[in-house]
Amino acid sequence: MFDIVIVNGILIDPENLTRTNGNIGIKDGQIAIITKDDILGARQFDASGRIVCPGFIDIHGHIDQDNYCGELSLRQGITTTVGGNCGASPLDINAFFSAQELHGFIINQAEMIGHSMSLREAVGAANPLEAATEEQLVRMEYLVEQAFEEGACGLSLGLAYAPGSSNDEIMRLSQLAARYGRIVAVDTRMITSSDMYSLVEAVEISRQTGARVQVSHLVYQYGTGMMDEALAVINRARAQGVDIRFDSGMYTQWATHIGAVLFDEEYMEVNGWKLEDILVITGKYNGRRLTMDIYRELRATAPHTAVVVFTGIEEEIYMALNHPYAMPSTDTGAYDPGEGHPQIAGSFPRYFRKMVVERYELNLMEAVRKATLLPAETLGFTTKGRLRVGMDADLVVFDIHGITDKADFGLPDASPEGIDYVFINGKLALAKGEVIDTRAGKAIRCTKPVYDYQI
Ligand SMILES: [Zn+2]
Repeated sequence: MFDIVIVNGILIDPENLTRTNGNIGIKDGQIAIITKDDILGARQFDASGRIVCPGFIDIHGHIDQDNYCGELSLRQGITTTVGGNCGASPLDINAFFSAQELHGFIINQAEMIGHSMSLREAVGAANPLEAATEEQLVRMEYLVEQAFEEGACGLSLGLAYAPGSSNDEIMRLSQLAARYGRIVAVDTRMITSSDMYSLVEAVEISRQTGARVQVSHLVYQYGTGMMDEALAVINRARAQGVDIRFDSGMYTQWATHIGAVLFDEEYMEVNGWKLEDILVITGKYNGRRLTMDIYRELRATAPHTAVVVFTGIEEEIYMALNHPYAMPSTDTGAYDPGEGHPQIAGSFPRYFRKMVVERYELNLMEAVRKATLLPAETLGFTTKGRLRVGMDADLVVFDIHGITDKADFGLPDASPEGIDYVFINGKLALAKGEVIDTRAGKAIRCTKPVYDYQI
């Protein structure tokens, strides 16, 4: 007798890229059996005509314990989120995980240690245009090592937020990630609207330190007519043995806070962003486009206000996500209800609808692999992202013909459709749009190297 059985599903195995019809039995939080035979459980769920696959792993997010965005992720079928991206994270990684271990969280969370905002601020290198001093750098090295000892899954660089970061600073901290076998997530610089140096820099981090590099939301920086060239840079590096991968959301429009240095007037100009292309998505001007008065007021008095830049070419999203080392991601943040970017509620359903159902960009098995096994392998999660006996029972049951996003600008938190059930660590967390369990997610402390340190 199993705790839960899911019967008659179309089972997608992302390791073998196969689909079979069958039943899954869950016991003690793990997948206990996968069979065509009849099995019995304390609770039974019918998955006739539905896809059953590992829960989605969102490799690029900023939930950082935010309940509301955690719930919006669960509603998309995301069972594991990776926070602390873009150079912004909690500093005390142990306290972060301990809180989840004590109180639980709605989905599983892994966490990076963030350089460009968090570490720099902690050591007094808060000016984004200036390099850290040797003393500050030594202190950051200490904090990064401490974070890795406590289970951070990687180092995140948000070079667009601290363009003054020196090469020494970037390489020495990435070197530590390499030694610990952890990834370096790089939100590359935004120098001009046609720059490729910033991506070459990410390649060089991996080449020179031996760290595995995950380029964050590639479409945001290069989906402006440069995707062809960006993929060529990545392919050339990979052919030379550089371990570089990337993620992308399903939107070309990206969100960040208005106080960021990349909204200084000279950056706006070289990137070709006009005020009317920027939408406010939180606070008192939520829903308004920027005017010079609003821009000045928010930068002076409310720099944490989130805005969305309307830019990019939609086709380049699909071009990027077709790459064998591309992973879908949300770049979700921590928002209040009614605020934010539709990516917080729509990304993964939109990925399956666009990439598989509407555009035939990816077959279903490959689409599942990129959303499950590939991020699990990239991060070193050995018990997630796989449909196999003994794996954590993080599972999503969905209708491939019915899965669709409903969120949009102005309606950023509308729930998607087509997801029947989500199980996290063997517990039913979501059923037919209703949240059943808000404490099923576990903290994921990464303690082992993901790859061998070679240089
Ligand atoms: Zn981000």
